[in-house]
Amino acid sequence: MIDLRSDTVTRPSQAMLAAMTAAETGDDVWGDDPTVIKLQATLAERTGKEAGLFFPSGTQSNLAALMAHCARGDEYVVGQHAHTYKYEGGGAAVLGSIQPQPIENASDGSLPLDKIAAAIKPIDNHFARTRLLALENTIGGKVLPASYVAQATQLARDRGLATHLDGARVFNAAVASDKPVGELCAPFDSVSICFSKGLGAPVGSVLVGSKALIEVASRWRKVLGGGMRQSGVLAAACLHALDHHVDGLARDHDNAAHLAAGLAQIDGLEVQSLATNMVFARIPDAHCASLEAFLKERGILTQMLYASRFVTHRDVSRDDIDAVIRAMKDYFAR
Ligand SMILES: *Cc1c(COP(=O)(O)O)cnc(C)c1O
Repeated sequence: MIDLRSDTVTRPSQAMLAAMTAAETGDDVWGDDPTVIKLQATLAERTGKEAGLFFPSGTQSNLAALMAHCARGDEYVVGQHAHTYKYEGGGAAVLGSIQPQPIENASDGSLPLDKIAAAIKPIDNHFARTRLLALENTIGGKVLPASYVAQATQLARDRGLATHLDGARVFNAAVASDKPVGELCAPFDSVSICFSKGLGAPVGSVLVGSKALIEVASRWRKVLGGGMRQSGVLAAACLHALDHHVDGLARDHDNAAHLAAGLAQIDGLEVQSLATNMVFARIPDAHCASLEAFLKERGILTQMLYASRFVTHRDVSRDDIDAVIRAMKDYFAR
């Protein structure tokens, strides 16, 4: 099957599995796993932060970060379409007693500065204490403009807020904008990075930030059930991805652009081509179910449930993309 539902569907390669098999391990709850320690240190260095912490998922990494920045009754400012707000089960509120203050994202994924400023509450017993600004890069496949990130994080600092980046796909953003990942992480106090998306590891996210913040996040990780034992087996997959899979993201981005160009030739199909590994097409509601079924017959998996999104990744080739374009053309020619 050609699976374009998400870049989370990537499977570990033989070389990655070999690296996992060869990993030196120890009990990481005791701080004894050399491979986890190496991954955390490597990420900290690559992102220009003091420390890193390995998590089983990006959801838990984001949540532990939010809980490290905000206490009960505190508030974080976040996009209406941000993953931490919309797609993580409301964990900040449910498990962290943190009030989200969502702001409608602009079409480029940013949160308008005037709206951020207006959402920050005065220090007064009536209000939750606004503690944190959380951004996401990439967001919906879009790279946040660097000048915007600089302004938004400066505004946050000026108002005494900490800053967190949900950088699940920050390596995609770095490759697409041809900048070192450290440059994209520099404006933020903490960044959460996923290895289980386009980087192709089966499991794993790393949170980076100051030593003090990571210490607090480490306690929350244990409380949330994320303390893992011989997790060097998993960290080895992430280290392998860092060494071998980052450059390949450019090919995923090229494939997405190629797919967008092909789909744009279809009459009446509105296609949004982004700089990274996602293509969005506005499929008329009446067609969603039948198109999904038609593509499945052709060996193509998509999900048109909450967005007609096609995601390219290391397990789809240029030939696969051409097959998808042909199938889409055939469907709409009927
Ligand atoms: C996937 C993702 C996460 C975390 O997802 P997990 O499936 O929990 O690893 C966080 N933020 C964004 C933007 C994501 O795409």
